[in-house]
Amino acid sequence: GCGICVKKCPFGAIDIVNLPEELEQPTHRYGVNGFALYGLPIPVEGKATGILGPNGIGKSTSIQILSGQMRPNLGIFESTVSWDEIFKQFAGTELFDYLKHVSGKEIKVALKPQYITYIPKAFSGTVRDLLSKTDERGALDHLVDELALGSILDRDIKNLSGGELQRVAVAACLARDADFYFLDEITPYLDIYQRMAAANLIREVAEHRPVVIVEHDLAILDMLADTVHVAYGRPAVFGVITGPKGVRVGINDYLEGYLPEENVRFRDYAVVFEKRAHTKEAVREELFTFPQMSKTYDRFRLSVRGGEIRKGEVLGLVGPNGIGKSTFAKLLAGVEEPDGGPLAEKVTISYKPQYVSADSSDTVEFMLRRITRRFDSSYYQHEVIEPLALGPILQSPVDTLSGGELQRVAIAACLSRDADLYIIDEPSAHLDVEQRMNLVRVLKHHAEGKECGVLVIDHDIYLIDMISERIVVFDGEPGVAGEAKGPFSMRDGMNLFLSGLGVTFRRDKSGRPRINKPESFLDRDQRSKGEYYYAG
Ligand code: ADP
Ligand code: ADP
Ligand code: MG
Repeated sequence: GCGICVKKCPFGAIDIVNLPEELEQPTHRYGVNGFALYGLPIPVEGKATGILGPNGIGKSTSIQILSGQMRPNLGIFESTVSWDEIFKQFAGTELFDYLKHVSGKEIKVALKPQYITYIPKAFSGTVRDLLSKTDERGALDHLVDELALGSILDRDIKNLSGGELQRVAVAACLARDADFYFLDEITPYLDIYQRMAAANLIREVAEHRPVVIVEHDLAILDMLADTVHVAYGRPAVFGVITGPKGVRVGINDYLEGYLPEENVRFRDYAVVFEKRAHTKEAVREELFTFPQMSKTYDRFRLSVRGGEIRKGEVLGLVGPNGIGKSTFAKLLAGVEEPDGGPLAEKVTISYKPQYVSADSSDTVEFMLRRITRRFDSSYYQHEVIEPLALGPILQSPVDTLSGGELQRVAIAACLSRDADLYIIDEPSAHLDVEQRMNLVRVLKHHAEGKECGVLVIDHDIYLIDMISERIVVFDGEPGVAGEAKGPFSMRDGMNLFLSGLGVTFRRDKSGRPRINKPESFLDRDQRSKGEYYYAG
C-alpha cells in the first residue's frame, strides 16, 4: 500500500451512500428526477461556518436558498410551495428565524464565487476601481494592507495573476456591508501566508456577521471555521448537509469517512497522518542530479543549491508565491537556461503548469488519445482515468469543463506523456478533498510504477505532508530573490519551511496536524524546541 489508506486502496470513494430514512423529504429538488438537496447549512451570528464536502453535492444550491435567490421547493412540483410549508420543515431549528428573514427579502449577501476567471470578463478597470465600488464598511485600507494589495492597486484587472485576482475577490467580498457573507473557496493560487491572512480577515468579519465558507484546504478550514457542516451523498444525484459539528470533530469525521451521529459511512477507508517523520527513507536509486545554479531576470534572482532526485519518489516543493518555484521547474525542464549555459545532464520532463487553460473544443478523450497510445490499456484506465474520475467527462469538449474538471484533465495529460521527471504545479487548485486524496495516490503510484520522479508544487500542507517523501524548501524575498534548498527529509524540511513562516502545528488525538494559535503555550514551546511539525 501507499501508506495512506488504513484498510485498502480502493481508488475512490464508495459510490453508494444510503439515504437516511428520516431525510426523505428534500429541501429542494431540481426537476422530478433531478439533483436533490437534503438539509441546509445554518449561518450563525458571530460564527464562521464551514461546509466540507465534494463538488456537485449542493453547496451552491444551499447558498442560493440562504441568500434568497431561490425559494426551495421541498421536492414538490404539483403546486407552488408556500413559505409556511417551508417554515414547517425547519420548525424548531436554528434556520427557522433565518428563513423568516429570507422570505421577507431582507437578506443582503456578499459573495466570493468559486471561479474568479470571469471577473476580468465582467469588469474592466483597475483593482482600485473595482475595490472602491465595494468599500461599504470603510474597511478597505485594512483589507488592502493585510492582503498585500497595495502594490497592485493601479494594475488593470485583466493583467492579474490567479493569486492576485483571488486576493482582490476576497477583499471585494469582505469590504461589503452584508447580512451574510459567503465565500466559495479562498485558497486556490494563494500561498500559505496569503491563505492565513485571508483566513484571519474572514475571522474578523465573522465576529459580527455570519460567514459561510466552502474550503478544501483542511488546515486552513480548521483555523478558519468554528463549526462545519459535512456534505455527503452522490455528486449530481443527491446531497445531504448534516447539522453543525465542532470544527475539529467535523474534519476528523470527514477524514475517517464515517459520521457517527448520522451513522453514515461515505468512504471505505480513513485518511490518516503520520505522527512521526519516517525515520528510514525508502531505498531508491538516483534519477538525476541538478547542479548548483542560478537564474537572473531583470528584477529577480533564483539560486539553487543543487541536489538529487530519486527514482520512484514524490518530492514536495514548498515556499511563498514569487519565490522561484516555477522558475526552478522551467530550469529543470529546459524551458529556461540557467545563468552560464544549459544543464549538462538531460532528463525528459513533463510539466503541468500552475494555470491551466482550455482553448480547444476537442473532447477530453480525443485530446488524451493524441498524447498516449496506451489509452485503452488497463494500467491507464486504472491508474489515471478512474482515480481522476474522468470517465463521466471523456466526451465533454475541453473548453466546457469546470475548473476542477480541467485540473484533473491537465494532470492526466501531464502523466500521459513519457518522461523521467513529472513536475506538477499546484494540482490541488479547485479539487475537493476526495479528489486531493485520490491525487495523492495517483501520483505516488505513478512515481513507484514508472520509477520516475514526481515533483509537486503545492500550498496545501496536508497534501504536501501526505504526498511527499522529501521536500525542497524555497525561501528569500518574493519577487526579489529566492533560494532553493534541499531536498530534505520531511522533518528537516518542514522545520525549515515552518520556522521561516513562524507557524507551528500540534497534533490532535487522531494524529491530525492543527495550526497552533500564535504565542499560545504550545506555539512557544514548540518553537523553543525547534519542532514545528512533528511534535507531540
Ligand atoms: P456544489 O456547489 O456542491 O458543487 P451545486 O449546488 O452547484 O453543487 O450543484 C449540485 C447539483 O445540482 C449539480 O451536480 C447539478 O447536477 C445540479 N444542479 C445545479 N443547478 C441546477 C439547475 N439550475 N438545474 C438543474 N440541476 C442543477
Ligand atoms: P513562484 O512559482 O514561486 O510563484 P516564479 O518562479 O513564477 O515564482 O517567479 C519568481 C519571480 O521571477 C517573480 O517575481 C516573477 O515575476 C519573476 N519572473 C518569472 N519569470 C520571469 C521572466 N520570464 N522574466 C522576468 N521575470 C520573471
Ligand atoms: Mg508558480
